[in-house]
Amino acid sequence: MNYSVLVEAYEKLEKTSKRLEKTYFISELFKKISEEELIKIIYLLQGNIFSKLDERKIGMGSRLMLKAISLSSGASIAKIEKEWANKGDLGIVAENILKKRKQTAFFSKKLTISKVFDNLQKLSELEGKGTVSKKINFVLDLLTSAKPNEAKFIIRTIIGGLRINVAEGLIRDAIVWTYFPKVIGIFFKCDKCKKIVPHSINCISCGSKLNNKFKDEVKRKYKETYSPKNVEDIKKINLKKYPFILIKDEKLAREIYNRFVFIVQDAYDKTNDFGKVIKVAKSLNFDKLSMAIGAPLNPMLAIKAESIESALKAVGNPALIEEKLDGFRLQIHKDKNGVKLFTRRLENVSKQFSELIPLIKSNIKSREFIIDSEVTGYDPETGRIFPFQYISQRIKRKYDLEKKAKEIPVRINVFDIMYKNGKSLISLSQKERRKILEGIIKEEKRKIILTNKLISGSEKEIKKFYKDSLKKDNEGIMIKSLESRYVPGRRVGGWLKMKPIRETLDLIITSAEWGQGKRANWMSSFTLSCKNKNKLFEIGKVGTGILEKKGELTFENLTKKLIPLIISEKGKKVKLKPKIIFEIAYDEIQKSKNYSSGYALRFPRVVRIRLDLGFEGVDNIERIERIYNNQKK
Ligand code: AMP
Repeated sequence: MNYSVLVEAYEKLEKTSKRLEKTYFISELFKKISEEELIKIIYLLQGNIFSKLDERKIGMGSRLMLKAISLSSGASIAKIEKEWANKGDLGIVAENILKKRKQTAFFSKKLTISKVFDNLQKLSELEGKGTVSKKINFVLDLLTSAKPNEAKFIIRTIIGGLRINVAEGLIRDAIVWTYFPKVIGIFFKCDKCKKIVPHSINCISCGSKLNNKFKDEVKRKYKETYSPKNVEDIKKINLKKYPFILIKDEKLAREIYNRFVFIVQDAYDKTNDFGKVIKVAKSLNFDKLSMAIGAPLNPMLAIKAESIESALKAVGNPALIEEKLDGFRLQIHKDKNGVKLFTRRLENVSKQFSELIPLIKSNIKSREFIIDSEVTGYDPETGRIFPFQYISQRIKRKYDLEKKAKEIPVRINVFDIMYKNGKSLISLSQKERRKILEGIIKEEKRKIILTNKLISGSEKEIKKFYKDSLKKDNEGIMIKSLESRYVPGRRVGGWLKMKPIRETLDLIITSAEWGQGKRANWMSSFTLSCKNKNKLFEIGKVGTGILEKKGELTFENLTKKLIPLIISEKGKKVKLKPKIIFEIAYDEIQKSKNYSSGYALRFPRVVRIRLDLGFEGVDNIERIERIYNNQKK
């Protein structure tokens, strides 16, 4: 397939910000592409040639890129640089320059998707001295055959940043749209262009008004429709046989569509690789996908509980209660090739915590496993648990690793197991998984332990366990359903978490203000936002809790982190890309007209930076409303 087909899709994706349209364009692209090229497309759509777990990089800096553009176009490097500073996008600069290039079409062949992908892969394989000219040649090989708009996207892919805004959720939905039966009601057939398109006022493909006659047409024409009575029904049939699903009830139609989305999301959460997901998508064989040792899965997440009583109602009685430790999440993988350690954000921290590897080998008695745990740092003299900030220094560290390991020793607190000796355990109940885990852990004080637990349905007993947990400097407790499966990447209610009365909020910094006087070089007041359906709304400002000197959370450190995120500046005010999340304590939530969320915080203070959270972890307005309403009671 020609690369121009992909570029056409890139251009459409760049032009629209509408989710439905984007999903439609991606799914139309999937339909055109051969199976062999699909896997390449999946990565190229994400601006890469590898999955996000792959640590390999294309590995070509912008300086070399300038040289390649200069050689292919005849323009001087100085001219290209000047244009670059002007436009801020080297892809567009190359496109403009190449438009002026003399016709070379006589010599050039049409670029194919595979050719682009393969050359980029070759770039990633070249390393070290003497490879510069080879790298330039691989890029030149592409640029000389590329049309100007193709060159734009080749360059953007190489230097990072496709600017087409294709998030993981869009790829997931496009897979559903392409390969699952179409749920009628959610999808229509356009009378005019005859395409099957998602429900909206106008046809996404040709723009004409949609009407709802399609249901009758499907009933008349297609024998292969299926009408499930409930969501569970779809498990009983071979979905591949049915191009359409016909349901009278709109609510059930939505539930079934959501189940399809869940199936693909689940496959992705297990593998973190759409390349693997797309390989089985055509046959809808998602069950075939399993976790693999060395490829971290998205960890299961917990919902906040408002009280022990409501938590027990939600997860069932009795429940598994565990101490909630104040550390960081660690996923431990072991097979015959060794041990690998991953954080909640899937970073490989095996080097940073290499002292744990022999301990894991000797104290977890199983050939292969994936285990979930929380790692806590402790004071080597007193044995008391250090707050999270202390070990956070060890996570990103690149040097002095051994010294830090002595200063801040850590203990592994294991609490779950997802895989053992070739078998996935995530469909087993919590109770069964915990039992298997207890069978293979050899505890060793201050080194590796099972999280302390209580199985109980008595509010009184749980309250005591909670108080004891807090006395030990823990954050609170986890309340887990004994029957729940392990659901990667999701907050599905199988796990609840409980922290002291006034729960903190996780809010994202969206703007800041430069300080005054001795704080003039630092940003010192930070505007926080919460989420409402993936859009951000302001809820307050914070400056308290950040330190003047020493420690991780200083104004200076924070300013350094925020400077690369500046979008624009006006006077003292700085607008920031939303990246950094604060955990915020406060005295009360109040209604307020001053902030776009409609709420404000009384006496907000920073507890810590949540480096372990991404955008999905930011608290949403529903939770704020709930706490506000509970407060009134
Ligand atoms: P939060 O970060 O507030 O969403 O709380 C969930 C986090 O608590 C998990 O991601 C773990 O890092 C941590 N945690 C501490 N103790 C446990 C435990 N016993 N079970 C599960 N997660 C725990």
